[in-house]
Amino acid sequence: MLLTIGLAAAGIYFSASNTVAALICFFAAVWLLPLKLTRYILTVKSIAAILLFLLIAKEQIYHQSSDNGLMTVTFIDVGQGDSTLIQFPDGKTMLIDAGTADYSASVANTLKDNHIHTIDYLVGTHPHADHIGGMPAIISAFTVKTYIQPEMSGFIQENNYFADRLTAALKQAGIQAFTASYGDQIASGDGWTAEVLSPRKNAVFEDLNDYSLIIKVTYGKTAFMFTGDAGYNAELEIMDEDLSCDVLKVGHHGSFGSTCTAFLAQTDPSIGVISVGKNNENNLPNDYVLQRLTEEGIRILRTDESGTIVIQSDGNEVKVIE
Ligand SMILES: [Zn+2]
Repeated sequence: MLLTIGLAAAGIYFSASNTVAALICFFAAVWLLPLKLTRYILTVKSIAAILLFLLIAKEQIYHQSSDNGLMTVTFIDVGQGDSTLIQFPDGKTMLIDAGTADYSASVANTLKDNHIHTIDYLVGTHPHADHIGGMPAIISAFTVKTYIQPEMSGFIQENNYFADRLTAALKQAGIQAFTASYGDQIASGDGWTAEVLSPRKNAVFEDLNDYSLIIKVTYGKTAFMFTGDAGYNAELEIMDEDLSCDVLKVGHHGSFGSTCTAFLAQTDPSIGVISVGKNNENNLPNDYVLQRLTEEGIRILRTDESGTIVIQSDGNEVKVIE
């Protein structure tokens, strides 16, 4: 009987993270019930066995379909904020920003819909509410292997409620934060890398937004650039780097002070994604930014118009999933 209770408890524990392990535990618990083998018990056991088989088959099919050489980048609709999920071809996952606290359920649901229980790399581009406000909820609901934040020792931080909440959540979950700066390869796998282009180690900016991690994710011949809320000052510091990319997450929700002409010319994307809320109070994206993108012949995708946006790369080309 104790064994049955123990297995049922293990089943409940696993149910949050691993469906198959949970079912094996529940099934073993039912199987080991110290009751006489009546026809009723045999029926329960048979149903449990069939259910278990079906669920394992479903997970297997999913894993086969996710191992298809594709990198999937999902720009999650989090209203006025940023949150991007990257599923690498080898199954590793990266979440760049988690929107505001109000939208953490949208982020969590997107992860769950994609059968994600573990986030290998959780990245907070910079400590503003519309990027890290949702982090504590994500950290408590998922297994996070690594948390990555920007080097910003040159910045004198005023009280930051959201950064404090995040620090507490990381501490409670026992996750150590890794501080990244220019030149760090924060993640890599078969045919793909994620490299930090900004900020530099001793960077001094007046605006916290400029400390945003700028990350270039390369898979085969394709590349995606994630810019957080970095503005001109940060963009102009990295003009010597290879900025070319297929997809640019347009800086600072399409604010006038980001995505300057020179940066846009260097990045030369075919698609620009703007993560922005409907009818936001700052009237973003800015008309001049839209004009700059249009003049360069860049296809503009906006979360306020399209909702969540999914773009896939097979290593040779990128494709918008519609
Ligand atoms: Zn922002």
